[in-house]
Amino acid sequence: MTVNNPPSEYALPHLRELSGYTPGFQPGESGWVKLNTNENPYPPSPAVDEALRAAAGDALRLYPDPRSSALREQAAKLHALDVSQVIFGNGSDDLLNLLVRAFSGERAVGYPAPSYSLYPVLCGIQNSDAIEIPFGREMALPIEAIGKLEASILFVTSPNAPTGVGFANSDLAKAIEAFEGIVVVDEAYADFAEESAVELLGRYSNLVVTRTFSKSYGLAGLRLGYAMGDASVIDILDRVRDSYNVNRLTQAGGLAALCDQSYLSAVVEKIKRTRDFYRAEWEGLGWFCYPSRANFLFVEPRNAQGESGPEVAQGLFEYLKRSRILVRYFPSNPLTRSFLRISVGDEDQMLFVSETMQKWLKNA
Ligand SMILES: *Cc1c(COP(=O)(O)O)cnc(C)c1O
Repeated sequence: MTVNNPPSEYALPHLRELSGYTPGFQPGESGWVKLNTNENPYPPSPAVDEALRAAAGDALRLYPDPRSSALREQAAKLHALDVSQVIFGNGSDDLLNLLVRAFSGERAVGYPAPSYSLYPVLCGIQNSDAIEIPFGREMALPIEAIGKLEASILFVTSPNAPTGVGFANSDLAKAIEAFEGIVVVDEAYADFAEESAVELLGRYSNLVVTRTFSKSYGLAGLRLGYAMGDASVIDILDRVRDSYNVNRLTQAGGLAALCDQSYLSAVVEKIKRTRDFYRAEWEGLGWFCYPSRANFLFVEPRNAQGESGPEVAQGLFEYLKRSRILVRYFPSNPLTRSFLRISVGDEDQMLFVSETMQKWLKNA
C-alpha cells in the first residue's frame, strides 16, 4: 500500500483539473444590499408559506411523489402543453446538468458567450468540450456561427445573462433551424421578458425550454425548476434523473407558487417598472445600459471625467462594496469587464444604490 498519493488521485483524470462553479457571494450577516445573484427582492406568494406548513410534519416520513405529478400537470396547463412534455428538477441547474449528461457525454456543447457560467462547468464534469461562440458588442444572436457549430447541444440563455438582452423568437427559430442537435433555451428570466420560446415548441421537436422558480417566483432557497420539450426528450431525462429529485416540501411550495399567477404578475410588473426607471436614469448620466428583459441591468459606468473601462467598473464595484452594496463584476471577458451587473432590488434598495453612485461620482 502506498501512502504518498492522496486518494483524490483515484478520481477520473478530467475531474482532477476541474474548477467548480463560483456562485455569487452570499454574505453570512445581514446589513448588505444584496444585488449580486438576481434573487427577487420581494417574498414569495403567501400561499407558499401555507403549503409548506401543511406539508411539514408527519408526512415527511414518506418519500415524495417521484414524478412531481401535480407540478407537471399545473405547468402543462399553464403553457398549454401535454403533461408528457414537462419534467421538474432540483432547480433548473439540475435539468441543465441532466441535459448535458444525457445528450452530450463526451461530445461537444456550444453556447454564445458571455452567458451563464455554469455551462462550461457542466461540460467539464462530463468531459465534453465547451465551445464558446463569441457575441459582438451588439449582442445579436450569432446565427451564422451557430450553423457551423459541431456539437450535440446548443445552449442559448434568453433573456441572456449577464447582459439582459432578450432574443426574438424569429431569431431563435433561425438558430434552431441552423443547428443539428438539441437546442436548450434557458429561460430563467422569461417572466420578465416580452416573448417566450415555449411558443416554438410545437414547431421544433429538438427544442427544450427551461424555467426556474429562483428569480420571478422568489424561491431561490426552495430549489425548483422545470424543462419543457418533446415527450421523447423528456422521457430520456426521466430515465437519467434521481428518482426523488424534488423533495416533498419543494413540491408543495412550488405548486402553491405556480397556482398563484396573479401574485407572480404583480411582483414581475413592479420589478419591470423599477428596472426601466433605473435604466433610463443611468442612461441619463451617459452610462450605456443594455435594454434588459430580465430582473437585472448590465451597465457600463462612467466616472466624473466621462471615462469608462475596466478600472472604472472595478472602482465603482469596490466603492459600492464599501457601502455594503453587492453587485456582480465579470472581469474575465472583454465584453463584460467594463460593466457591472446589478440585480433589480426594491425601491429603497435602488434609491440607496443611486445615491451611492452619485457620491462616487463626486469623490472619484
Ligand atoms: C439563475 C439561473 C439559473 C439557475 O436556476 P436554478 O433554478 O436556481 O438552478 C439557470 N440559468 C440561468 C441563466 C440563471 O441565471
